[in-house]
Amino acid sequence: MFELPEYVVLANQINKTLLGKKVHGGNLGNSPHKFVWYNRSQDEFNRLVKGKVVGEAKVRGRWLFIPLQPGYTLVFGECGGKILYHPAGKAPPKKYHLFVNFTDETFITATTQMWGAMELYEQGQELKREYIKDMQPTPLDPEFTYTYFDNLIQEAEAEKKRSVKSLLTQDQLIPGLGNAIAQDILFQARLHPRHSLSDLSSRQSKVLFDAILNTIDEIIAGGGRYDEYDLFEQKGKYVRIMDKNALKSPCPRCAGEVKKIQYLGGSCYFCLNCQR
Ligand SMILES: [Zn+2]
Repeated sequence: MFELPEYVVLANQINKTLLGKKVHGGNLGNSPHKFVWYNRSQDEFNRLVKGKVVGEAKVRGRWLFIPLQPGYTLVFGECGGKILYHPAGKAPPKKYHLFVNFTDETFITATTQMWGAMELYEQGQELKREYIKDMQPTPLDPEFTYTYFDNLIQEAEAEKKRSVKSLLTQDQLIPGLGNAIAQDILFQARLHPRHSLSDLSSRQSKVLFDAILNTIDEIIAGGGRYDEYDLFEQKGKYVRIMDKNALKSPCPRCAGEVKKIQYLGGSCYFCLNCQR
């Protein structure tokens, strides 16, 4: 699944590659998939995108917004899989869930694994969509300061007992983070996934805050995680520290044993020795 950094990488590439292109037409794919959320019929989608010009793409959390001007926004949200650019003359992938081609005969396709939104809104209406309208500040927003983060921890903890993994991955408290990036953030912050928020010292919460921002920056700088694809179907160069491959070797920091547990809807990988 794409997380915040992969969406930023895609948006940057879209802005370098697609900005200003004129849409020839589009469709909702060749492979019906019941967990792709559409809000348009085939005909409607093709009619509405035709003749529009690609504007500057933006990201919030796990949502990518591509203006189709005038008047519309193409929205990808909560997807994994591939969003790909294809030069003129290339064959599309066998299966895809969205297709948009341009007057210069280049095109994009999107194919999701599991689920994801691929929706077209009248400009501004996307901001009223569920999950977007009430989105809290994401780590890339200017409001996401340490003061904000510290308050967020206190509010989240007052509401119910939570662990640091819950803070990072549940209830969209920090939009854009998912199970994959959370592993490396917790490694950098030297925190066990189950470490209770109520036991977090102010020093630890500052370290956690820095780990969130630094990990996001590093993944963006690497062009995404090594198990995700960018717009040109290249894998990212950011090698995850704590994932299933980490089980094969000792902890890269302290040589302690790396352990796997199932916790809060996903596998967690962490060092038994240096993550407490
Ligand atoms: Zn360790």
